[in-house]
Amino acid sequence: MQIKNNLATINQQISQYCELAQRNSSSVSLLAVSKTKPVTDILAAYQAGQIAFGENYVQEGVEKIQYFNEQNIQIEWHFIGPLQSNKTKLVAEHFDWMQTLDREKIATRLNEQRPHYKQPLNVLIQINISDESSKSGIQPEEMLNLAKHIQNLPHLRLRGLMAIPAPTEDISEQEQAFNQMKQLFTELQQAFPNTQIDTLSMGMSDDMASAIKCGSTMVRIGTAIFGKRDYANQP
Ligand SMILES: *Cc1c(COP(=O)(O)O)cnc(C)c1O
Repeated sequence: MQIKNNLATINQQISQYCELAQRNSSSVSLLAVSKTKPVTDILAAYQAGQIAFGENYVQEGVEKIQYFNEQNIQIEWHFIGPLQSNKTKLVAEHFDWMQTLDREKIATRLNEQRPHYKQPLNVLIQINISDESSKSGIQPEEMLNLAKHIQNLPHLRLRGLMAIPAPTEDISEQEQAFNQMKQLFTELQQAFPNTQIDTLSMGMSDDMASAIKCGSTMVRIGTAIFGKRDYANQP
């Protein structure tokens, strides 16, 4: 019941932030981040109408995907964690989206390993927008080169950009990073017209309002849906 209520609250907040930004509420989708959470929690969210879920750890994600496949439950699975090149095959074979693409080599491998009977893997380029200490994401100047590389790979479909800005409670700092992302997103759309570049994944439990104000089309929410995470059982 808690998860269902939390989801209702989040969806209400999304609508409200969209209204404030004079955006259509259907222009922002919700990714439920279920890392470290059991399949029973995912099932509760699914039964409350949630369709897209995000996982950070390959092995954990694949186990959950297989569980729901066996139940014949159709979920849209997004990989949102750092990916080592020796684990690309599992992502290519099991996930629907890969949001943290930041290297040509990983793109090439995912393309080679994507089963041909499946739809192309939807990918987002991860931009390192403000967190200098983070190893994840490329610098904004590198975006177009990586995008060109991806556009030549038939089993990947470039859908847009993703970022995890350095956490801050300062609203103007949040907005600065998100506005930069929106600019890059527009640049990417203009560089590749007539393609399906429609997704700007940014905003988490603590900065969702700013992200939506600045043009996010997908917010990734974990804690506010499932409660605090317990990492004790994680590798
Ligand atoms: C964990 C995680 C989230 C969700 O964070 P919350 O603060 O729990 O909402 C979103 N995006 C990514 C990439 C994450 O790893």
